Amino acid sequence: MVLSEILKNAYNKPIGQCSNEEIYYALLKATNEMARLKETSDAKKKLYYISAEFLIGKLLSNNLINLGIYDDVKKELEENGKDISEIEELENEPSLGNGGLGRLAACFLDSIATLGLCGDGIGLCYHFGLFRQIFKDNLQTAEPDLWMNDKSALEKTEVSYCIKFKNLTVVSRMYDISITGYEGTTNKLHLFDIESVDESLVHNGIEFDKSDIQKNLTLFLYPDDSDENGRLLRIYQQYFMVSNAARLIIDESVSRGCTLYDLYDYAVIQINDTHPTMIIPELIRLLCERGIETDKAIEIVSKTCAYTNHTILAEALEKWPVEYLKKVVPVLVPIIEILDDKVRRKYDDSKLNIIDKDELVHMAHIDIHCSFSVNGVAALHTEILKNEELHNFYKIYPQKFTNKTNGITFRRWLMHSNPQLAAFISSLIGEGWKKDAAELEGLLEYKDDEEVLDRLIDIKHQKKLELKHFLRRRQGIDIDENSIFDIQIKRLHEYKRQQLNVLYVIHRYLEIKSGAAEPTTPVTVIFGAKAALAYTIAQDIIHLILCMQQLIANDNDVNKHLRVVMIENYNVTSAQSLIPACDISQQISLASKEASGTGNMKLMLNGAVTLGTMDGANVEICKLVGDENIYIFGDSSDTVVNRYKEGSYNPQKYYESDLRIKDAVDFITSDELVKIGNKACLERLSRELKEKDWFMTFPDFDDYAKKRLAAYSDYEDRIGWARKMLVNIAMAGYFSSDRTIEEYNRDIWRL
Ligand SMILES: *Cc1c(COP(=O)(O)O)cnc(C)c1O
Repeated sequence: MVLSEILKNAYNKPIGQCSNEEIYYALLKATNEMARLKETSDAKKKLYYISAEFLIGKLLSNNLINLGIYDDVKKELEENGKDISEIEELENEPSLGNGGLGRLAACFLDSIATLGLCGDGIGLCYHFGLFRQIFKDNLQTAEPDLWMNDKSALEKTEVSYCIKFKNLTVVSRMYDISITGYEGTTNKLHLFDIESVDESLVHNGIEFDKSDIQKNLTLFLYPDDSDENGRLLRIYQQYFMVSNAARLIIDESVSRGCTLYDLYDYAVIQINDTHPTMIIPELIRLLCERGIETDKAIEIVSKTCAYTNHTILAEALEKWPVEYLKKVVPVLVPIIEILDDKVRRKYDDSKLNIIDKDELVHMAHIDIHCSFSVNGVAALHTEILKNEELHNFYKIYPQKFTNKTNGITFRRWLMHSNPQLAAFISSLIGEGWKKDAAELEGLLEYKDDEEVLDRLIDIKHQKKLELKHFLRRRQGIDIDENSIFDIQIKRLHEYKRQQLNVLYVIHRYLEIKSGAAEPTTPVTVIFGAKAALAYTIAQDIIHLILCMQQLIANDNDVNKHLRVVMIENYNVTSAQSLIPACDISQQISLASKEASGTGNMKLMLNGAVTLGTMDGANVEICKLVGDENIYIFGDSSDTVVNRYKEGSYNPQKYYESDLRIKDAVDFITSDELVKIGNKACLERLSRELKEKDWFMTFPDFDDYAKKRLAAYSDYEDRIGWARKMLVNIAMAGYFSSDRTIEEYNRDIWRL
């Protein structure tokens, strides 16, 4: 592709005279056309990855990379005085997801297309993605993020269905985004929408009338569901998504020769968490409508669907009141009752029931009974599912359970976000790793090569400088590129324990204030996190972090040694700037609570050293890199699980016996902080920690402080640290989503 020719055809002028907007449009169009040429005619059997979230991030550069023309385009632009990063900035990020689960779906689509597998994504076309986070008075506020505009990559299709709810019928429309694999084929992400959505419904930040379904059905990703209208809207969205998906899957399969009795030979449906679960009763319903007998339909659907579990947090496992389903989609209720009845007849164990005694439908139970595969997302997580959370299911369906440790696409998380490191790796071991990530292990040969280690340090330094400029531009904050970048970026949740991190920061602040801390390289502690709007304690934790940021920034005794920075509006785009610059990757969830994590993998791949608990995929990272290349702390998952079972945890005991904990917690409500913060928020958080500390930060505090300090001290040995970086990069190959997808295909999809 020659850009100058494209622009000449489009606008009849040379590159230098085109505006960045014009170049952006022309590139978008050209990449879409190139992608179309790589579409393959469908194979007999096709995968449908159905998910309420696809956190895809910006598309243009990624598509240029995957089409193999990024470097040429960049060069041609440079030669004509244009900067590709300025053109990238014109693109809005489609934030159609909350965090890891949605980002996983995006990485999977990339790998499916890269491996040349026939598989499309199906989801919803939210007009507003995840809210835009803005800090005001040290508090999080939310603004709508209208990513869709005439620049977006959505292509309108001819596909449209009539979707009937109890009290209304809507007409859907399918829009497509092309997913181009790296030197692979092009698949589609199908996003369903309705034409009657009214964006002007939004007011006061992100509030809107939740009862007007015609106007709001696809308006927002996961609307606040703290009230009944919010929860009903969620059911409307879920049913809209799955009914469209089921019809599309049936139509496409039939057009390839399927009789519907053999649906599972033509389609495999991967259900990403429980949000798309209603596709099971909906498919059964549609098959029955086409003359198939109920038991047969259940059998066919169960052989077609596979389910991925993403969490063991009880509050995150969806349970819908039968009452709600009757209000929105009464046609599914008799089918769900039949499924429940079959289970009750066969097994005398109420834990296996689909509808419980409180008339709640356990969505995960539908998935497990009516699918042929149930997978966890990291080795530890799958073990906990089998032995604890889903033990009763495992006893009756042992053959269904399998582990598929998550992965990330190296195209976005290395080639795109860290081209310097990617090029350096290729100069050492060749380009093969881009298609076979296991080849990264070839880097181990350079473990003791000081020239190589020096270059790794140089690249890290350059990425830290780039992050500094990014932050100055975006937030007007100046950070010291010569400090240690100690980073925790992920959704804000108590189980992820940002509060443990900030407790340590307070402790360190007090130590430096009192002259007790030994001077080492200065540290910049960086946070990035959005908190769900109805999640009060999470908001309070953000508030505390922002207050500490302000306090320390204005304290000249401390700020030469320690700084705290909270990134505003953490999203895929900012992740791409943060991750390559990270020295220490904080993965400090309470053991047993983080199913896998994928941020941990992105950071490792970019040469960050993990400070973490034995949780999720950290366990596998630890095994791969060895104890000397990771900082592990805290209680084991077994200890934690037992402590919950016994109900024996008493935070007060730790608060009273460890002065560091007491001082740090007391500081939350000190005069210094209350002066710059909101007293009620700070007091609520302090009380929560002292009285509940549900995610057990205090028992892990001592070990955390020790290991964190050990990391800071090891960092002083430049070459020693660079060796840890190198081992982490070399061993990250296992976490390529290409490996994960090969396993899904080998064991579940069999395309
Ligand atoms: C990778 C990613 C996540 C997931 O991070 P975890 O640390 O695994 O929770 C969340 N948000 C964004 C924007 C990401 O890129």
